[in-house]
Amino acid sequence: MSRPLLIAGGRLIDPANGVDAPRDLLLRDGRIAGVEAPGGFASVEVVETIDATGCAVAPGLVDIHVHLREPGQTYKETIATGTAAAAAGGFTSVVAMPNTLPVNDSVATLAWMLAPARGAKVRVFAMPAATVGSLGKELTDFAALAQAGALGFTDDGKPVLDAGLLRQALLWAGRLGLPISQHAEDPRLSHGAIMNAGPVAFRLGLRGYPAEAEVSIVRRDIALVREIAATEGVRTRLHVQHVSAAGTVEAVRAAKAEGLHVTCEAAPHHFTLTDDAVGGGQFGAIAFNTDAKMNPPLRREADRLAVIAGLLDGTIDCIATDHAPHARHEKEVEFERAPNGITGLETALGLGLRVLHREHGASLSQVMKLMSAGPAEVVSLGRAGSLGAGNWGDVVVFDAGAEWRFEATGSKSKSKNTPFDGESMLGRVKATVVAGKIVYREG
Ligand SMILES: [Zn+2]
Repeated sequence: MSRPLLIAGGRLIDPANGVDAPRDLLLRDGRIAGVEAPGGFASVEVVETIDATGCAVAPGLVDIHVHLREPGQTYKETIATGTAAAAAGGFTSVVAMPNTLPVNDSVATLAWMLAPARGAKVRVFAMPAATVGSLGKELTDFAALAQAGALGFTDDGKPVLDAGLLRQALLWAGRLGLPISQHAEDPRLSHGAIMNAGPVAFRLGLRGYPAEAEVSIVRRDIALVREIAATEGVRTRLHVQHVSAAGTVEAVRAAKAEGLHVTCEAAPHHFTLTDDAVGGGQFGAIAFNTDAKMNPPLRREADRLAVIAGLLDGTIDCIATDHAPHARHEKEVEFERAPNGITGLETALGLGLRVLHREHGASLSQVMKLMSAGPAEVVSLGRAGSLGAGNWGDVVVFDAGAEWRFEATGSKSKSKNTPFDGESMLGRVKATVVAGKIVYREG
């Protein structure tokens, strides 16, 4: 029995339990031991106290879409550095995507990634590949991978394009109670494209990637979920990754209204920026900004507002960063040669609070839900995302009113590829606690 940690004097925000009030929180043996009115634990002998006066205390954040680059690309990031960035950003659980080298498509690679020897600072989970080598030809061994801890299956970076194969994937994963997480992109519509199709692409002379490349695959996938339920009687789970287009939000909203088990996520960059960030407009001075290149691409203002509306009305289940570190030399090249992706673990909370809470009126509790209980539910992490007694002792303490500027040079990530260097953020992480232990403390 370890002695307890007390987090006292804060405003407890626990959307899963409907709490938003001054409360003290006690953690013991790595779990949530209890919640009391201020001073309620005065008689308990504690090993350490975090003074949360003036701060919010919430369930540790959960990010179901990160690229930790290990094994194989440790010059970009390692599991240790990526999770250090996660801890600094208030995250206590992350789900690693399988596009590593080798691709995480086997029990051996999965077990290697989850091993304590990787030195993770927060909880690491993984979604292995849906198809062998993520080549879209044959499915991986879902049952064995599920047994080894897989939270779902995805070929993230590419879609499972073959409809017959995806149908089989949905069915088999559905029988195991796991989601298929789909990178929604029809490469036949986006082939050779490197930014959103529209006036900015036209002005810069870059090939455009139409939103329909995303929307059409989402519609097809939803049709398969409906068909499998009708034909096979299996309630399959489709999760749509990084929603960027208004049409996708609409399609998922309709699928939910129909009662299908379809969930989706949105990345902070898609609710903060538009394709103007690629060249001129909002970020005037920089044209061909490779730190604004990602897949799916930044889209138009109407898409950005549709993503925000989807986050506010519950159509979009959660915020996921798609943290995608790349080395400086890889991004400092011509726009078309630069790899897709930006880092995101240390800017997600600051942007979520700035854009959704301050600019669009979401309550703190709503934003916290999108970053904790919401994502935990998508991947069925029943002990995360809530401060109920017995749950994991994973907590973030942050000053919700603090305005600050993010400096990429101070990032814990190995890579600094972010369009948010120097950008203003709202809400600063003071401490992050995993399993009752402090893994990050400001300063
Ligand atoms: Zn990704």
